[in-house]
Order: sequence, then C-alpha cells, then structure tokens
Amino acid sequence: MKAFAYVNAANEKEALAALGAERGKFLPLAGGMDLLALMKDYILQPDRLVNVKNLDATIAATPDGGFRIGAAVKVIDLAEHAGVSKAYPALVQAASEVGTPQIRNAGTLGGNINQRPRCWYFRNEEFDCLKKGGSRCFAVDGENQYHAIFGTGPCHIVHPSSLAVPILAYGGRFRIAGPSGERDVSAADFFVMPDKNLYGENVLAPNELVTHVILPAPRNARSATYEVRFKQSHDWPLAIVSAVLSMEGGAVRSATIVMGAVAPVPWRAAAAEAILAGGPVTEETATRAADAAVKDAKPMSENAYKVQVARTAVKRAILKAAGIAVA
Ligand SMILES: Cc1cc2nc3c(=O)[nH]c(=O)nc-3n(C[C@H](O)[C@H](O)[C@H](O)COP(=O)(O)OP(=O)(O)OC[C@H]3O[C@@H](n4cnc5c(N)ncnc54)[C@H](O)[C@@H]3O)c2cc1C
Ligand code: SF4
Repeated sequence: MKAFAYVNAANEKEALAALGAERGKFLPLAGGMDLLALMKDYILQPDRLVNVKNLDATIAATPDGGFRIGAAVKVIDLAEHAGVSKAYPALVQAASEVGTPQIRNAGTLGGNINQRPRCWYFRNEEFDCLKKGGSRCFAVDGENQYHAIFGTGPCHIVHPSSLAVPILAYGGRFRIAGPSGERDVSAADFFVMPDKNLYGENVLAPNELVTHVILPAPRNARSATYEVRFKQSHDWPLAIVSAVLSMEGGAVRSATIVMGAVAPVPWRAAAAEAILAGGPVTEETATRAADAAVKDAKPMSENAYKVQVARTAVKRAILKAAGIAVA
C-alpha cells in the first residue's frame, strides 16, 4: 500500500478542513471496509485519509414525523433501530442483509452509500478501464454476468449500495457539507449515470461529505425490500427491490418501485408504479408490474438471467409490501 497521511478529524468541521478539491488525493475514511481494500489493491492511492467516524452517529425523529440519520451510524445500528424499523421496514430489511454481522458492525451509512463499484475490472489494477481514465470498458466484450441490464453505458457497473435502494424509494434526501456550506440533495438527484460522472457514482465533489440521510414521514405507506442473492452468500445481491405503496383504504394511491444491482444507479421502475396506482395489490397486478419493470432491460452477453431475477424480485417486493404471502 502506498504511504499516506492520516487526519483524525474530531468533527464535521475538522473533516471538511482536511479534505481537498483534487479528486482521489484526499479521501474520507469511515469503517474502511471498502476503501482499505481498494488501497491495498492499488486502485485508490490517496495522499491523505480523513477519519469521518466522528461525524454525527445519531438517529433522530424529526418534527414532521420523519427521521434524520447521521452518516456515521453503523449499518448494524440502523438494522436494529426500533423506530426506523417501524417507520421504514424496507430500509431495515435491506440493512439487515448487508454482508455479515462483522461487516454491518464496521460499515457506516455514509460509507455504504458512497462505496465504489464491485466491477472486477475496476478492482483489478491490470485493467485500465474507462472509469480509471482508460479508453475502454472491458465488461462490454468480457465477463459481464454481474453487470448492468439497464442503461446505455459507457460504463456498465451496477450501483453497489443496498441502502441506496430503499432510501430512494422512500423519497429520502442527503445533507451534503462542503467548504462553501451545506446543501440538500434528493436521492433521485444524488446518484448519477456514467455519462454524467464517469469517475464517480454521484454528485459529491471531492471536498464534500454526506453528513445525513433525511427520510420524510412514512404516512400510511406499506413497504418492503426483497433481494436475491447467489445461494445464501454474504455477497452483494444479484437484484434488490424496494417497494413503497402509499395506501388509501385498500387501494394503492401511488407506488414507488426501485430496483438495485441492475444499473449504475438505483433504478426507478415507473412503468410498474403506474400499473399499481389506483387499485388493490393482487398477484395479478404484481405480476404485470414486474413484467413492466423489466420490459426495457437490455442485458449484456452474459447476464440475461438477471432480467428474470429482477422481475421476480419486483413481484415479491410488491407482494411483501402489501402483506400478501410470497409463493
Ligand atoms: C463481503 C462483503 C459483503 C458486502 N455486502 C454488501 C451488501 O450486500 N450490500 C451493501 O450495500 N454493501 C455490502 N458490502 C459493503 C459494505 O457494506 C460497505 O463496504 C460498507 O458499508 C462501507 O462502509 P464503510 O463505513 O466501511 O466505508 P469506507 O470503506 O470507509 O468508505 C467507502 C467509500 O465511501 C467514502 N465515504 C465514507 N464515508 C463518507 C461520507 N460520509 N461522505 C462521503 N464519502 C464517504 C470513502 O471515501 C470511500 O470511498 C459488503 C462488503 C463486504 C466486504
Ligand atoms: S463496467 Fe465500468 S468499471 Fe467496469 S470495466 Fe467497464 S468502465 Fe470499468
């Protein structure tokens, strides 16, 4: 590993002061689950690491009935929080499935949202791919069985964060702090496709930090997350879907369906949402919504199987949210 300086920032202000504008030179270090592995593999070689474990690590209810969750909250504390579990079951279900107990104990919310892609070409120093400033995407003609089935490139990663999926489905927002103050960005605008930012996966500038996730009041929504993994492994999901159904009596007033592990960003399934709106959830509407969710998928040479996996995950997430037993 290349030698680096370490700044043990005591708070947000000190952390921001220790970061810099040059991409890749100054990096926030949270639980280190992802960042240290990338450094050991010579994929990232920062000059300075800035400890951000002293950012806010609290989970607090907001006056409007929502929640404000600090970036330094551990994944395990999110998964075990009674208030969050009651208000946002889809988030707790996703958090409970992240990695292993050890990973959930070390990993933070901020680190999970900002973790880098798992593409094996990206993570291998021998492959100087587009995302690392090279001239081609090796996944296009290569081993792309875990890559995207949505999006048009030029990079075909799938976004690795399981927590990003329910956060987007609940209409969450991120508080971002930087040298010139703070801003508030919706999850829908935070994650960006590779044609907008090839070298990162979101709108954060190198000298900015995610400090909080802000979730609106759940009101009378029913919600759930369903994910499909390879066997029962602790690896990232092949597909993960969060369904949030705003109910009016027994009918869905509006639905938000977000698919993860299928595109470079958490992928909203608007066509599925339209099918669910205005009626009760049944096996038949869930099936039609699932079909619509994957209708425009464009699998690569090795990952057509993911279309069916995603389709099943959409259907089961909807049924689970509606409280209908998944067959
Ligand atoms: C075997 C294994 C299985 C896993 N399975 C899953 C899974 O199923 N689903 C899933 O979602 N994750 C999974 N993970 C990923 C794991 O949850 C993340 O690596 C972890 O959450 C990263 O958190 P961290 O706090 O360790 O971040 P770090 O490794 O410290 O940081 C990760 C990245 O985020 C940046 N960063 C950290 N905090 C901030 C901040 N506040 N603002 C801006 N940037 C920041 C860092 O600079 C770095 O680039 C798995 C990991 C392993 C090793
Ligand atoms: S999918 Fe993206 S990260 Fe992977 S090889 Fe292609 S350009 Fe690189």
